[in-house]
Amino acid sequence: MSKRPSRPVPAAMLAPWKGPFGGVPPWHQVAPEAFPAAFERAMEAQRAQLRRITGDPRPPAFGNTIAALERSGRMLERVTTLFEVHASTLKLGELPRIEAEVMPRLAAFADEIFQDPLLFQRIEAVYRQRGQARLSPEQQRLTWLHYTEFVRNGARLDGPGKRRIQAINQRLAALFTRFSQNVLDEETSRFTVIEREADLDGLSGPFRDAAARAAEAKGLAGKWLVENTRSAMEPFLAYACHRGLRERVWRTYVNRGDNGGASDNKALIPEILQLRFERARLLGYPTHAHWSLEPTMAATPERAVALMEAVWQPAAARVRAEVAELQAMADGEGAGIRIAPWDYRFYLEKLRQARYALDLQEVQPYLQLDRLREGMFWAAGRLYGLTFTPVAGLPVQHPDVSVWAVADAGGRPAGLWYFDPFARAGKSSGAWMNNYRRQERAVRPIVSNNANFLPGAPGAPVLISWDDAVTLFHEFGHALHGLLSEASYPSLSGTAVPCDFVEFPSQLNEHWLLTPELLERFARHHRTGAPIPAELVRKLERAATFSQGFQTMEYLASAMIDMKLHMAGGQAIDPAAFEREELARLGMPEEIVMRHRPTQFNHIFSCDEYAAGYYAYLWADALTADAWEAFLEAGGPWDPAVAERLRRRVLAVGNTVDQGSAFRAFRGRDVETAALMRKRGFLPALEN
Ligand SMILES: [Zn+2]
Repeated sequence: MSKRPSRPVPAAMLAPWKGPFGGVPPWHQVAPEAFPAAFERAMEAQRAQLRRITGDPRPPAFGNTIAALERSGRMLERVTTLFEVHASTLKLGELPRIEAEVMPRLAAFADEIFQDPLLFQRIEAVYRQRGQARLSPEQQRLTWLHYTEFVRNGARLDGPGKRRIQAINQRLAALFTRFSQNVLDEETSRFTVIEREADLDGLSGPFRDAAARAAEAKGLAGKWLVENTRSAMEPFLAYACHRGLRERVWRTYVNRGDNGGASDNKALIPEILQLRFERARLLGYPTHAHWSLEPTMAATPERAVALMEAVWQPAAARVRAEVAELQAMADGEGAGIRIAPWDYRFYLEKLRQARYALDLQEVQPYLQLDRLREGMFWAAGRLYGLTFTPVAGLPVQHPDVSVWAVADAGGRPAGLWYFDPFARAGKSSGAWMNNYRRQERAVRPIVSNNANFLPGAPGAPVLISWDDAVTLFHEFGHALHGLLSEASYPSLSGTAVPCDFVEFPSQLNEHWLLTPELLERFARHHRTGAPIPAELVRKLERAATFSQGFQTMEYLASAMIDMKLHMAGGQAIDPAAFEREELARLGMPEEIVMRHRPTQFNHIFSCDEYAAGYYAYLWADALTADAWEAFLEAGGPWDPAVAERLRRRVLAVGNTVDQGSAFRAFRGRDVETAALMRKRGFLPALEN
């Protein structure tokens, strides 16, 4: 309980949402300083609801226990949505302090529910009778899901065991916050300053302007500053001709969290791993990886590792071939160097231009954000019958945000789509989808897409890069997964699927960007309106598997180390030695480093969600590649029968069926990973 006098909570932060479309988030009535008190009120409200369930004199049944549990905590869900959107897109002023205050309390509240013995007794009773109780398959699955979640979080432990789980979770919450804070410190306090304009040779005008502005902001007017972030590091390494500076920028970036001193993360990693291992053992699992993967499609760490190992060798062979080509290119220039990690991206760009005559900067004038968004809508219309209509006048959390009403093929309301496209202070980096309201029965979902595109000059069209365009379609794939949901219960609806399945609809949606039908209509020159030349589209298609050695290996090494760290036993792990020895054993090419080294690996050390879960992108991409081939084997990308099967068997069902069955119902068989190998260019493409 807070000792500070609690601030009045605006009623709208707690009340069911009002307005059109079944109610919309009341962004204009949120008072951020009231979040701690709002959370207290919402937790108290759910406690009262749970007491009514446990105090019910009737015998436990689906309706009075599982369905009642599913209905509880709606106020907490609404407050959490309002809070999460503030913490991820408006994190200014008091927000970081408020976040540090509420996160441990929410963790403790989750433990309080999972460890409530009376509640668990009732859930277990319903679970035991679920076969005889005339429940629908979806109700049986919901019962299984809640029962399993309780067990996996310690509901069956004795008193000392439960107390130990609580203590571990509290300690982990503190360690996660420190870990991510350290990474952020290393990204903001370390950077590369460039004194002479000649040293910027090779870099674009917009990059130089941004570097000059960054220097000025640090009181270094007249110089250039390369920030220690991925979005600054990647273009610098791809285009800067100054090799010594490339090495400096690269070293600053790859050593984040590994520099000694106050923001070094090496000491935190063994403690996090040890606590996770202890928790997994308490819960009856051999390791944290086994606990973490149990509810996923992969189901065991061994199956995830098997897929990663199957991809490792072809990726390593491709890297060797790429390095040989890069070396030949450098030798041809008389560079007199041996390709090092800070040379890889630089010579890849040169090779892309030499091999495919493709300069991605040539594509950008055709990539207007507004037009591509219309293209996304058009594709969703052609595939799933959806239509999108802009809605004015709804409350938004920032003036950049716009809202569209979505209708299904029969013209019925399908939900709302909020779009928050631009970078700004206080917004997390990257791009993501968020559920504001989950679908259940007739209640339609509210979903959002968020990105960090650079806004254009006032009145000018916003041009985005090819990578940004892929990101746009990716996140929209998550949005469609939410919008097309047809479940009865929110815990089973839309994107509430395991992490190794949730990236399947999103990665699949990326594929419709690179179709001639879409690009001809929607990739139009921002000045002339001319469609993108067919020749340029062909170059993009031909270069689709370019640099897959580098891309795959950079990712795969991180995914493999994540899994191995969480499959290791209880011995104290020295992260530096582990990384070195394990990568040597795997045969990591020395020209590439992990995309995320352990001391900066926020996915796995600043929360539990993705620990032993980074493999998920590869797993889901195997599904994606195989599903895309289902379209190609039929009538092509727009085949209506395959699209309808995808909608009905995968997108609409959410988590109401297990993911293996969903994929089988769509594809007619289990996933075959040869399609993944073809997608990445490790096997020859299919003839079509
Ligand atoms: Zn995604």
